Amino acid sequence: MIDFHCHLDLFKSPTKAAEEADAAGVYLLSVTTTPKAFLKTAQIGRNKKRIRTALGLHPQLVHERHKEVALFLRLISETKYVGEIGLDGGAASAAHMDLQKEVFEQILKGCRSAGGRVMSIHSRHASSDVIDALSHHRDAGIPILHWFSGSDANARRAVDLGAWFSVGLPMLKSRRASSLISILPRDRILTETDAPFAATGDAHYPAKALAETVRRLAILWKCEEAEVNLQLKRNLRTLGARVARFN
Ligand code: MN
Repeated sequence: MIDFHCHLDLFKSPTKAAEEADAAGVYLLSVTTTPKAFLKTAQIGRNKKRIRTALGLHPQLVHERHKEVALFLRLISETKYVGEIGLDGGAASAAHMDLQKEVFEQILKGCRSAGGRVMSIHSRHASSDVIDALSHHRDAGIPILHWFSGSDANARRAVDLGAWFSVGLPMLKSRRASSLISILPRDRILTETDAPFAATGDAHYPAKALAETVRRLAILWKCEEAEVNLQLKRNLRTLGARVARFN
């Protein structure tokens, strides 16, 4: 199974969550919300061959943490994966949109200078602006839109830009799931939990949520679960081959 957006460091016991994910055979992208958390979080996945750690600066924290961009740019050579980054247009964050855009811009430029990165991107209530920014920085790497909830039109724009998508249960349970999923190319989809946020509330790693995500994808794609698992595995391999070509 694949969990391409998980906040291991925010679990009650990150070590235990990492061990549970590892025992379940999950290929996991451990995203961070601040550059300061990166090195410590990378330690959690240190001895786990299926865990990768991403360097992030969460858009909802940008107004407090924007000075950490300098640290972000210093650390970018440490990993091929960046996230969680992006823009948030929700009520609490919209007031800081200009600053968010400035920081996102600096991060995208940093990714380009570093030779390209896989980027796990937040776009809640800001999908147009995120896609605009990505269209100006097509050489920043491979954008993976996490928990995409924008319009069908914006989904199509993102697809045209070459974006990938990580989808989780809340997205697949939404009313718009079937129209949205029909737009996203099957060979550019990965699964995610966004745990511990979107998870069941207990302290354990939610492997069951991933299995349920695969089950729902099978329904939407009108195919067997085994076929979904094969497709996801193929997608991860494709991504891995592209990552290997980054500097
Ligand atoms: Mn997240």
